Amino acid sequence: MELRDIHVSFGTLEVLRGVDLKVPSGSTTCVIGPSGSGKSTLLRCVNRLQEPGSGDLLLDGESVIRSDPDALRRRVGMVFQHFNLFGHRSVLDNIVLPLRSVRKLSKEDAAEVARARLAEVGLADKAPYRPTALSGGQQQRVAIARALAMEPEVMLFDEATSALDPELVKGILDLMAGLAGRGLTLLVVTHEMGFARRVADEVAFMDSGRIVEHGTPERVFDAPSSPRLRQFLSQVL
Ligand code: ADP
Ligand code: MG
Repeated sequence: MELRDIHVSFGTLEVLRGVDLKVPSGSTTCVIGPSGSGKSTLLRCVNRLQEPGSGDLLLDGESVIRSDPDALRRRVGMVFQHFNLFGHRSVLDNIVLPLRSVRKLSKEDAAEVARARLAEVGLADKAPYRPTALSGGQQQRVAIARALAMEPEVMLFDEATSALDPELVKGILDLMAGLAGRGLTLLVVTHEMGFARRVADEVAFMDSGRIVEHGTPERVFDAPSSPRLRQFLSQVL
């Protein structure tokens, strides 16, 4: 997955100011940085929930910046801070409905895939419930199962644990680490510096719409070169 010179503005506010980022296939990049630095906007550009003003997006070496957004979203799954589940449908339906509309599976095939994905995230017994009957951690597992059901090449996580009670965070981070370990390409916005250090192949630090530093976790956390990153780390570590 590659972003080239991505620019995004909202009116006169320039939110992304020329972002280049390459995430090699099968690797995990964590994006860290202060609130408002453009992390969510960057992620949203990758599945084109946000259309950049200029720049290019490549998957597998091929430009997809002008391709059909729905086709792109099959290849790029996204998990949000607030889960974004359909509250009035069952857990099973939350996975079945997109499988039917996006992957065009039959009802039976969709249900089979959905049950398998739910089992994978440890929620086989929750299929008939409404998401609201589940804990935040369980709802986030459903959201992850839903994204995985699309068989994406790339998964985006935008602060997937930020809305969870502290005791539920580790379970979700462990689940994400498991995905990283099995060859998916992950782009993860997170405030969990321990996770970034342990799981990421590369870490990108964003500030004011730019990637200010980018390197291995050791480089970024142990030998930050910019004052801005040093200041950020002193506040969060
Ligand atoms: P982060 O995820 O790092 O906190 P965001 O990408 O959400 O940052 O936001 C970056 C900046 O863009 C912020 O100043 C935010 O207020 C602004 N912004 C984000 N989305 C919109 C939008 N749809 N319209 C106007 N401003 C936006
Ligand atoms: Mg954000």
